[in-house]
Amino acid sequence: MRKVPAAARAAAGGGMIFGAAYWTAFRPRSQVFGAFPYRAPTRDKVVALTFDDGPNEPYTSRLLDVLDQRGVKATFFQVGRCAERFPSCTRRVVESGHVLGTHSYSHSFTSYVRQPRQRREIRRTQEILHGIAGVTPGLYRPPWLCHWPWVLDAVDERGLQVVSGTFAHPLEVLQPPARVLTTGAARVARPGAILILHDGREARGGPRAQSVAAVGPLIDRLTADGYTFVTVDRLLGVAPYLP
Ligand SMILES: [Zn+2]
Repeated sequence: MRKVPAAARAAAGGGMIFGAAYWTAFRPRSQVFGAFPYRAPTRDKVVALTFDDGPNEPYTSRLLDVLDQRGVKATFFQVGRCAERFPSCTRRVVESGHVLGTHSYSHSFTSYVRQPRQRREIRRTQEILHGIAGVTPGLYRPPWLCHWPWVLDAVDERGLQVVSGTFAHPLEVLQPPARVLTTGAARVARPGAILILHDGREARGGPRAQSVAAVGPLIDRLTADGYTFVTVDRLLGVAPYLP
């Protein structure tokens, strides 16, 4: 079990300090509470495309069309509640050779405040994804990249590999034009990067047309730059699924 540093406990309780604590714990590259890989240490021109908050139709199916047309495999961190809504889409992710990861059941901020709820969220989602797609994900990305010590403990207990990444574009949630997203993502891509895009929006879905439209041109641009695409498990050298 990781010990919660006294400083972190104190910070979590208090007003303005909370802002600093939040940034320390949630920023994508924070390693302060333990290993939270956002890239692989390699000089090879490989990147992992990851998509969070799906499935969310019709966007996830369109995205799968784009990836499958180009023969690119990606990693999908799906929300349990969304998988219940679009189970055939979750199945297609696995059947097409992409990797399915876990991204909580409800994508609810309050589930991070206490560990028991966090444990239930992970267990429930794993059961749902296994029931739908026949696999038990070995990769977990916490919503908002929250990696409080008790979150990492809950992830460890389930034998999961926690995964961070680099946001493809800071304003993706607002759906700027696809070419803006493509340019932003190409700019942050580098050897070993794990790029974060969204085919859904938390557990409630929402428009993702610009994100989906950005992906084909992004793949084409990075391919022209000499990049190839791998799933996160291969990038990190871990198993995609639990036995
Ligand atoms: Zn998310």
